[in-house]
Amino acid sequence: MAEKIIMMTEQRGESNRVPAVPTSLEAPTGLLSDRLARSLHDLRISVTDRCNFRCVYCMPKAVFDNNYQYLPHTSLLSFEEITRIARLFVAHGVEKLRLTGGEPLLRKNVERLIGMLAELKTVSGKPLDLTLTTNASLLARKAQSLKDAGLQRVTVSLDALDNDTFRRMNDVDFSVNDVLKGIDVAHQVGLGPIKINMVVKGGMNDQEIVPMARHFRGSPYILRFIEYMDVGASNGWKMDEVIPSAEVVRRISAAMPLEPIAANYTGETASRWRYADGGGEIGVISSVSQAFCADCSRARLSTEGKLYTCLFATSGHDLRALLREGRSDAEISTALAHLWRARSDRYSELRTSQTEELKRERSANKVEMSYIGG
Ligand code: SAM
Ligand code: SF4
Ligand code: SF4
Repeated sequence: MAEKIIMMTEQRGESNRVPAVPTSLEAPTGLLSDRLARSLHDLRISVTDRCNFRCVYCMPKAVFDNNYQYLPHTSLLSFEEITRIARLFVAHGVEKLRLTGGEPLLRKNVERLIGMLAELKTVSGKPLDLTLTTNASLLARKAQSLKDAGLQRVTVSLDALDNDTFRRMNDVDFSVNDVLKGIDVAHQVGLGPIKINMVVKGGMNDQEIVPMARHFRGSPYILRFIEYMDVGASNGWKMDEVIPSAEVVRRISAAMPLEPIAANYTGETASRWRYADGGGEIGVISSVSQAFCADCSRARLSTEGKLYTCLFATSGHDLRALLREGRSDAEISTALAHLWRARSDRYSELRTSQTEELKRERSANKVEMSYIGG
């Protein structure tokens, strides 16, 4: 059956604001808290808005076609600019950096950026948790140089084991074997523990839930099932295409019994389950059916330097403007502190209670995952 795409306008968050720089400057304490008492722990950095895949739930071909205008190189933050912003975030308490996109391995010389970020230390002087999410198309080729540059681990996206299903999902004819090869090479060079992310889209790849679980059971890799989200404005998301995590767990458990296990830390996005017979663990990320906004400690930096305090935000804060108008570290750091303290986002919690009108208004303006970074 042909995929039905509801066309809407693609958004890059045009209504962005340059953050106000308070006159009274403050030194970072490493202990920021937003209006819902959530700390700032995790920064996701989108290093490119380009990708060589056209996953139907992220960059559908109908929107991201040959006429699509990607950001020009001069709009992108330079590695020096990214590192400077990351350093300021780390002083505010960020301990985890994730490079993403688009496809982060398409950014030229990304290893140089990784080397620069790997030198940063947390407030307590420890190395940062430095990781990257990739579609693995270039992973076999780049794993060693990424490791040598200081990357600690990778998360790989893989939506099916069956080639026809995977090709329908990535829509560029990329084969499963090439992804599996990338995962193995990354494991061999020490980029683990590796997590594998599978976005489950009902009617498209949900028949692959149990085969994927079976394949990765007992392997060194942790498979995580992600609910298909209404991120962006181009994927034509419909609630009835979401397979709730409870159903994923039910289907796997019927074949290979599972039992719940405790979270590794507060704010962990995945709920953990292990095979009752000791065959390892899986995770489920229930962004739609069981929102985890209450513990959300993630900030996102877009490819062109806009800060988003929620994946579903409709506008960002233009940090690049502050950098390029020559603001000092103290000024930018103080502006960041004010932005985080003012944060009250909890879109996923509100999603179910929104009126249809509000939903429509918001969904036409949400920024795309490939731009903001997943
Ligand atoms: N290109 C890289 C990749 O695919 O791993 C990194 C960027 S991608 C935007 C990051 C993650 O977001 C991937 O695991 C992808 O599957 C997930 N993702 C993208 N669109 C999604 C959606 N609509 N719902 C749920 N997850 C989504
Ligand atoms: Fe590209 Fe990743 Fe989006 Fe797929 S999910 S289109 S690989 S950015
Ligand atoms: Fe965080 Fe926004 Fe997602 Fe809630 S909806 S978990 S606030 S990114």
